[in-house]
Amino acid sequence: MTAPTTDAARSLRCKDAAVPPAAELGWEAYMGRACYACGRQLTRNAVHKGWARGRAGVHVLDTEVWACPA
Ligand SMILES: [Zn+2]
Repeated sequence: MTAPTTDAARSLRCKDAAVPPAAELGWEAYMGRACYACGRQLTRNAVHKGWARGRAGVHVLDTEVWACPA
């Protein structure tokens, strides 16, 4: 399957974007299923970015985040 190349508007690569607080991630991104920067579903080549940090009262919301392949 070949992905369409319609990324002209995306000047910054996802993996270069700053990691947002965990509370600002969409559910799919929070679960590690989508790119934390653009929200697209990830492929096998997702780039591990690190951790998004968050807290809700006593609950720690830290989660690992992933970005689209470069
Ligand atoms: Zn992305």
